[in-house]
Amino acid sequence: MITQSEKIIIIGAGFSGLSAAHRLAGSNLAAEITVIDKKEHADFLPLIPDCIGRGINLEFLTCDIVEFCRKLKLNFIKEEVESVNLESRSVSTLSANYIYDYLIIASGSQPNFFSNQAAQDYGYSLNSITDVRRIIKALKTDDLKNFVICGGGYTGVEAATNLWLYTKKNGRSKRIVIVERAPTILGPLPAGMKMYVEKNLKSMGIEILTNTVIERIQVNQVSLSTGQVFNQAMLIWVPGVKTAEFIQKLDILKNPQGRIVVDEYLRAGQNCFCCGDTAYFGDKDSFLRMAIQFAITQGDQAAKNIIRSIKNMPLEKYRPLDLGYIIPMANNRSSGRVLGLNVSGRLATFLHFSMCIFRSVGWKNRWGLICNLLSGGDKC
Ligand SMILES: Cc1cc2nc3c(=O)[nH]c(=O)nc-3n(C[C@H](O)[C@H](O)[C@H](O)COP(=O)(O)OP(=O)(O)OC[C@H]3O[C@@H](n4cnc5c(N)ncnc54)[C@H](O)[C@@H]3O)c2cc1C
Repeated sequence: MITQSEKIIIIGAGFSGLSAAHRLAGSNLAAEITVIDKKEHADFLPLIPDCIGRGINLEFLTCDIVEFCRKLKLNFIKEEVESVNLESRSVSTLSANYIYDYLIIASGSQPNFFSNQAAQDYGYSLNSITDVRRIIKALKTDDLKNFVICGGGYTGVEAATNLWLYTKKNGRSKRIVIVERAPTILGPLPAGMKMYVEKNLKSMGIEILTNTVIERIQVNQVSLSTGQVFNQAMLIWVPGVKTAEFIQKLDILKNPQGRIVVDEYLRAGQNCFCCGDTAYFGDKDSFLRMAIQFAITQGDQAAKNIIRSIKNMPLEKYRPLDLGYIIPMANNRSSGRVLGLNVSGRLATFLHFSMCIFRSVGWKNRWGLICNLLSGGDKC
């Protein structure tokens, strides 16, 4: 009897999508596996702020998705997914409709402009290599005096310290300000760690304005709720992220941020699994933050569960292992918690870069990064 091979579609080829693809490709399933991404290159996001200050070469922060899929004998379609129909089991792009037996949604997150058109037009987001290229180009060409960072989360702090390093290296004195709507930066982190980070930011001359919002954005001008106006300013827009447009249209249980609520097996619906930043795993008291360690292990577990499902085996629960987190800061006084222990200073910076080198794809990228970091950037 000839059995038809299963059709598996993975939407998104970032950390979680590539991890799922890798597991499925190695499974020897009689399946037709297709990866769909709107880009041909996956960006290594954790190091993109360091391209500004440390001068890390962008070339080492990408993975060629086409080549990755070719090596693993997977189909790759470069298109943006417009909609998903969980009932008819189909994925639509602008030009075609694809039917699946199993689906993995791994489309990550994207900058949230909160419907602020001026922020979109004049602000700089920091969520891709394209974004960081725009920032570097503007830094070289524009006569900027002020950097206003909207959002005091991890990315805002990283951006601020890298801009500090950039201005220091270039011998230019600029004003760097983090604007945060909440009473403190770095939201849910322990108070002691926040104090450490704040003290370190202040030692670099970076200003922190909490309980403050950006009221008006114009070309190179930012006005705050405090009445302060920054001229010749670059606005870095990092107040938060949201999920892809097609997920917002999907009639499925989501958290207020638009992340899809998944069960303990990472299922989001019949034959549909979800992983990485798009997936909301947990309950209302504790849930997994957006981080590459969870994206990679969730992608792997979602793929394993599809394999088990095809083989009529019971599904396995996803059991996250939290190795910790680090807030990298470009003066090397980073801070974080690793394996249950607080770490700070150069050790924390070292652990962050070690994790990044370990997690990056391919030896060319790994060696490139090592060489780049040891030589102080810009030179490799
Ligand atoms: C500046 C920055 C610094 C960070 N630093 C750290 C850090 O130090 N440590 C850490 O653990 N995490 C860090 N993160 C978070 C981490 O990068 C994310 O948690 C991780 O990338 C999530 O992986 P993912 O697979 O869910 O999504 P992604 O890696 O974002 O991949 C999603 C993919 O889906 C594609 N896609 C999206 N929409 C569509 C569509 N409609 N159609 C087709 N394709 C689509 C995208 O093109 C992309 O390739 C950082 C993030 C940023 C932005």
